[in-house]
Amino acid sequence: MHNHNGDRIFDPQHEDSIPREREGEIIKRVARHMAGVMQELHMDLDDPNFKGTPERVAKMYLEMFHGLFEGAEPTITTFPNEEGYGHMVIEREIPFYSMCAHHFVPFYGHAHIAYIPKETIVGLSKLPRILEFYAKRPQLQERLTEQIAGYLWSQLKPLGVMVVIEARHLCVEMRGVKKPGALTTTSALRGCFADREVREEFLALIRRQVNW
Ligand SMILES: [Zn+2]
Repeated sequence: MHNHNGDRIFDPQHEDSIPREREGEIIKRVARHMAGVMQELHMDLDDPNFKGTPERVAKMYLEMFHGLFEGAEPTITTFPNEEGYGHMVIEREIPFYSMCAHHFVPFYGHAHIAYIPKETIVGLSKLPRILEFYAKRPQLQERLTEQIAGYLWSQLKPLGVMVVIEARHLCVEMRGVKKPGALTTTSALRGCFADREVREEFLALIRRQVNW
């Protein structure tokens, strides 16, 4: 995978997805390793509260890392931009949950995604699915933001695209510096969002309070 400068975006699993038929075998193997970790920590595997825990953790990992599996990439149906719509399309506050690649604990929050179409538009329901696909991998918030922007840039060939993600990281809140409530913001942009005016329109729109 490449960003707009042609640099490789670090994405260890992109060409090496897990075949679906290996799922059952992988659950068994991960569960065995998990039981080993628990034993190393002197946990009593015969404790009734641990009954089935290694298998449950294994299955949960497979769910949280769903994006590593073959066929997880969403099919993106695009449509011709027949109305010639040339303004910003924004989907804001799309919730997501991901796992930090450094600590394997969750980080979670919202993404705001905007693009300005040229020839092609995309069904709005697809934007959350692209976010979900990349979130369901061991991630860094910076990389997640870049990957969504890069994906839309290459698939839609729009005039511009911008992604802002705001997230809380449990590895910051529960351990280490222990800063509950700290919010990390990242952004990635392509094309006309490099213009300050375009960028500011987007940022103003995502900050606006809507009362339904
Ligand atoms: Zn972390």
